Amino acid sequence: MVTEPSDASVRDRAAAATSPASHGALLQLIRARSGATRQQLLAATGMSRTTLFERLDGLFQHGLIYQAGLAPNGGSRSAPGRPSEILRWDDRGRVVLVLDLGQTHARICVTTVRGQVLRMRELAVSIDVDAETYLAQAHEIGRILLTAGTDETLVGVGVGIPGPVNSRTGVLGRSTTMPQWQHYPLLERERQHWNVDVVIDNDARAFAFGEASVAGPHDTLLAVKFATGIGAGLVSAGHLLEGSDGTAGDIGHVRLSVDGPPCTCGRHGCLAAWASGAALLRQLAPVGVHQLDDIVARVAAGDAEVVAAIDQAVERLAGVLAPVVAAVNPDTLVLGGKLGRLPRVVAGLDALIRDDVSERAREHLVVSVGRLGSDGAMVGLSQRVVDLAFAPGAIDAQIAAAPAS
Ligand SMILES: [Zn+2]
Repeated sequence: MVTEPSDASVRDRAAAATSPASHGALLQLIRARSGATRQQLLAATGMSRTTLFERLDGLFQHGLIYQAGLAPNGGSRSAPGRPSEILRWDDRGRVVLVLDLGQTHARICVTTVRGQVLRMRELAVSIDVDAETYLAQAHEIGRILLTAGTDETLVGVGVGIPGPVNSRTGVLGRSTTMPQWQHYPLLERERQHWNVDVVIDNDARAFAFGEASVAGPHDTLLAVKFATGIGAGLVSAGHLLEGSDGTAGDIGHVRLSVDGPPCTCGRHGCLAAWASGAALLRQLAPVGVHQLDDIVARVAAGDAEVVAAIDQAVERLAGVLAPVVAAVNPDTLVLGGKLGRLPRVVAGLDALIRDDVSERAREHLVVSVGRLGSDGAMVGLSQRVVDLAFAPGAIDAQIAAAPAS
């Protein structure tokens, strides 16, 4: 369950909420429960009956809650004339559009507000083209997917990108993977295009947020995406760490040696230049390995050369991750991406990191594959959009703009 807004604009809006007894705060309480009666809400909020009913009227009039039948003791004589109706957040028909933009392909999907994927399409497109060209294709598929639904309301759009982004400004940072997109005002353009709330985040961080939403009551989750590139995300007590410039988790350009292979960032010997999927493909091209799926298949088949290359990459990745594990003491290290999900990679990182950190740092550490498979980033983006759109401050602003008659 994800309840903690992490986007700065969410925090701003939440801070703008006038009162813990506001419409938005009440909706958040109802959202956190699968259903609640008026009596339960009175007990939980301590509001007066008059105030609670006035707030609920506002939420009803804006279509934000609905009556979902009677509680098991509904209509009991203890409350004559006022049966115990169950009130729920009206999430029926509300959907989120997610554009998960990758380096070689994009995944575009429509999800429910609980992150369940309803419709999805993949698009083969290179991030090397300029932003407008790439986005025009993604938008067209998004439009087709949205049109395919009936009686749906678009809550917002989540965009994942394989590079650094400042989610407060929505402007893309200097990126080695998408140089043509530098300074592109992605947030502003997406808002103009779809006319709804938009969240933009780095794909590895979106993956971390998605996994944290299903990981249970873990305090600190470190997620690493190991695919064409290498990136990480950190969620602690529901808060997604972005860092001062939006580059938190950008571990691919930690330099391991000054004389290593050239990196896309212009230096030599970065982790990404040694160990990313892109680096492995360059290294293994002479033996007929041309895509990540080839690596996955050759490792499964026990191809000695490919296995040796992957093992060496894992060793280098572990060398960068161990200090991170020591510094943040996660209880869960979740691995994702086509290479990160390989059992050999999970087992190798688990063993090597344990070798490198103190017993206390590893005592409660669980290293595992993400529970959401390849959907982690999509779920994370979807949940961040819902948190933004239904933040208490956003709901209060919506109701203040069109007060109940
Ligand atoms: Zn680099």
